[in-house]
Amino acid sequence: MEHTFIMVKPDGVQRGLVGEIISRFEKKGFYLKGMKLMKVDRKFAEKHYADLSAKPFFKSLVEYIISGPVVAMIWAGKNVVTTGRKIIGATNPSESAPGTIRGDFAVEVGRNVIHGSDSVENAKKEIALWFPDGAVN
Ligand code: ATP
Ligand code: MG
Repeated sequence: MEHTFIMVKPDGVQRGLVGEIISRFEKKGFYLKGMKLMKVDRKFAEKHYADLSAKPFFKSLVEYIISGPVVAMIWAGKNVVTTGRKIIGATNPSESAPGTIRGDFAVEVGRNVIHGSDSVENAKKEIALWFPDGAVN
């Protein structure tokens, strides 16, 4: 079965959105296969977002991710990578449709509550980085 990596970012944890986010993925029909609360360091955050290292917002993105604990999760199910991104909504909350997580709970692109892998290949890489012991099952 397909797997994806989902992370509730520090603002989502601080605002008490973890339960709501888990609930949306559960109600859709996906399966939770791994979950942990973590506070990551700069080096780890830079590795997670390595593909964006040339972007002008890279430094502030890393500061954001290391600013507090995050909830790292593995979710499984049919087309979970693409469907998970749909549940999350567009990167910039100004463009995220109502009914999506970012559309319902965020206004700033730099504080957009949640991360989701953008491809099956990147999901594998991110799961290996965040869950070196793999998923449950
Ligand atoms: P994520 O990878 O976190 O799921 P995404 O795939 O929708 O988000 P990316 O292009 O991978 O979008 O950007 C990663 C993160 O960097 C975004 O979620 C956002 O927090 C931040 N970001 C993206 N674009 C900008 C921008 N123009 N200004 C500030 N922050 C940005
Ligand atoms: Mg991304």
